[in-house]
Amino acid sequence: MIFAANFKMHHTRAGTAEYLKELDTLLAQAEFPFKTLVFPPATALQPSTDWITVGAQNAYPAEQGAYTGEIGLSQLEEFGIDTILIGHSERRNILGESQEFLAEKFAFYQERGFQIVYCVGEPLEVRQQGDEAVAEHLWEQFVGIDLDYERLIVAYEPVWAIGTGRAAKVEEIASTHAELRRRIARPILYGGSVKPTNIREIAAIADVDGVLVGSASLEVRSFFAMMEAVAPPQV
Ligand code: PEP
Repeated sequence: MIFAANFKMHHTRAGTAEYLKELDTLLAQAEFPFKTLVFPPATALQPSTDWITVGAQNAYPAEQGAYTGEIGLSQLEEFGIDTILIGHSERRNILGESQEFLAEKFAFYQERGFQIVYCVGEPLEVRQQGDEAVAEHLWEQFVGIDLDYERLIVAYEPVWAIGTGRAAKVEEIASTHAELRRRIARPILYGGSVKPTNIREIAAIADVDGVLVGSASLEVRSFFAMMEAVAPPQV
């Protein structure tokens, strides 16, 4: 099971360092059989810890250059970062990243051997049209993406469930992950209003290999509580 925390534009550099230190200590004590990823804002990037892989929420597909406001490969390498989130709906919809650009970004970081958490998800009006429309929409978001890349992790995040407190229903997650599983052998995460109160039922769904968590990951105790909720009992 993979637990990924997306801080978005939350937490400072100092706050992130404190968070990672506390979480690392908790994970060292717990020894959960989980993979833990944390994506802080760019200003708060730091090397991964013993128990936590630190990843970038975004980076430009270039080593360095004239891309005002962006960071690239050399800025990530300074911290030993080799994990990146690509395709989050906020970058697609608010920052206007096109499928073509996302595919370019993916190819650039794939070539450099990065672990890539690649996000896809449908808006509400597509979900309301049913499973077939959802599948069609999601597969379009994979155009230009190498589904066989060995360091690929896919995150299914229905846009209408992100930050709304309203997670997708178990049947919706199950049918969508089953659809994605037809062509994706890599881990598939669910994201969208995952929290301590619904993690158990979500984690139990077939083909859910982990979760990508926004709001409920911002407090270390809340993120850790989700792991505790699904951890195998100690013997
Ligand atoms: C996200 O932004 O990736 C996310 C899943 O957010 P939230 O958990 O707040 O819905």
